Amino acid sequence: MAEGSAVLVIDDNIDDREVYRRMLARAPGANYVVYEAENGDEGIALNAQKRPDCVLLDYSLPGRDGVGVLEEILKLDPSANVIMLTGQGSETIAVEVMKGGARDYLTKDTLSPETLHRCIQSAIMHGDLAAKLEQKQQSLEIFTRAMAHDLKEPLRTIKSFSRLLQASPSLAHDDHDLLGYVLSAADHMEELIVKVSGFSKLEASGDLEAKPVSLSAIVDQVERNLREQISSRGAEIERGPLPQVMGDGTLLVQMLQNIISNAIKYCEDEVPRVRISAQGEGMLCRIAVSDNGPGIARDHRELIFQPFKRLVGRGIEGTGLGLAICRRIAQLHGGAIWCEDADGGGGTTFIMELPLALSEADKAPADAASPRQEEQRADRIGRVAEVLLVEDSPADVQLLKIKLMKREKVTFNLHLASNGLEAMRLLQERATGGHDPLIDLILLDINMPIMDGFEVLEALSRDARLKTIPAFILSTSSDEDDMERARRLGARAYMIKPPTRQQLELALRDVQTLDLQPCGDALILYGEQTRHQANATI
Ligand code: ATP
Ligand code: MG
Repeated sequence: MAEGSAVLVIDDNIDDREVYRRMLARAPGANYVVYEAENGDEGIALNAQKRPDCVLLDYSLPGRDGVGVLEEILKLDPSANVIMLTGQGSETIAVEVMKGGARDYLTKDTLSPETLHRCIQSAIMHGDLAAKLEQKQQSLEIFTRAMAHDLKEPLRTIKSFSRLLQASPSLAHDDHDLLGYVLSAADHMEELIVKVSGFSKLEASGDLEAKPVSLSAIVDQVERNLREQISSRGAEIERGPLPQVMGDGTLLVQMLQNIISNAIKYCEDEVPRVRISAQGEGMLCRIAVSDNGPGIARDHRELIFQPFKRLVGRGIEGTGLGLAICRRIAQLHGGAIWCEDADGGGGTTFIMELPLALSEADKAPADAASPRQEEQRADRIGRVAEVLLVEDSPADVQLLKIKLMKREKVTFNLHLASNGLEAMRLLQERATGGHDPLIDLILLDINMPIMDGFEVLEALSRDARLKTIPAFILSTSSDEDDMERARRLGARAYMIKPPTRQQLELALRDVQTLDLQPCGDALILYGEQTRHQANATI
């Protein structure tokens, strides 16, 4: 690596520059190419032009201090390897310089050819590693993004159309079963996509923002999420007093959900009995989840925390990622997770250690709509709503028409736009035109060419006439970040494809300008009375 490394020396003192030049010429086994600059501006320009492997920067330059020059160099070239040189050593300067982004810091008095050479080489190596890490992080980001959006899209289409076909009365019995296989493979693949992207994201995430969270609220949520599994197996879940811990509620639900779901899923021969308890151990809370399942052999108790390691065959569904995710979640909380024999033999106990929170009242559940609000909604008589679907996939447009409008009999006037720009044009035309009824609701896909769903939300919020129109995201992504981003940008609800009557009902709960009213076995979506009546045919 020393062969032909280029070094830029930025120092106003000609004697010092000469000393570095000589030292570098004497460096063992190295062949440095040296550039020189006598002030900050010249150095910044030369760095941009030559892109040397390393910059030796004098801390006290006339006119402009070394830290300012360092900042400027890194602004233009964030990967620059800069070593700061000062006349005398000082802790404060060292901290300031390293915080400013220098790779290292050397005092001129103690400099020798060897130290200088070693320091330059390690700065270059540090830079190479940082660049590789950056590259890896970028690939991981692309991969995670592809997982969350692009892979789910075609899968959702396969599932939705298979379901439609399966419900068709003219389908032969055998074909019905064959479609069942397609659907269960697609379910498995979807689960894999969700888990792998969740795992990659956790791998990439650094610190989490921990807040006091109530463990009993977490377990309540888990029980709600697992309602179907619990009731279908007749599982008994027992719990002792549970304290508050410091952590991220969503991640803790994910962790306990996998542990409790495993406890039920792998207990095949008996009625599953799961016991959840917790006790304080100094600053830590030790949570134990015990089951009466088959137990886990001592040799396998670490193995199961590795990604994709399973002890059972495909007869029991699963991806083998659950416990790997749990371990990462525990680590992100500064805690740990492992498993032991359940008390009294047979079965397993999973132990999780998390930081204990100083006690704080549980948060009240989100307010439900008040009876008065419900009344106001029911009283409103409007016209059939104008709904704009912004969607680039013809298959998804079809799906909304067949599933939501035809099969589930939800009636509204549908308008289409195949990307954000087209949608904005249509909305603006209607807002200024004065002839066509205004759009009452926008259903917005995220991933679209030209202008995506997030950009549309941004554009809507900037337009005084359009920002009052409720916009719901309708996406394949169930990614928490996407949901949060959509919420921040003003989306009133987040629906996951395929759109269902139930999802729409839920999404409309907090929207005062729209009302879903039964009409025979159909539902009609009404919009608020506006300046024009729509000629809707129902
Ligand atoms: P996923 O959670 O991703 O849907 P999974 O349940 O197979 O799939 P993990 O939760 O990581 O993956 O579990 C790994 C393996 O550990 C399981 O396949 C199972 O063999 C074993 N295991 C986990 N929990 C228990 C348990 N409570 N009792 C017996 N075996 C268990
Ligand atoms: Mg599992």
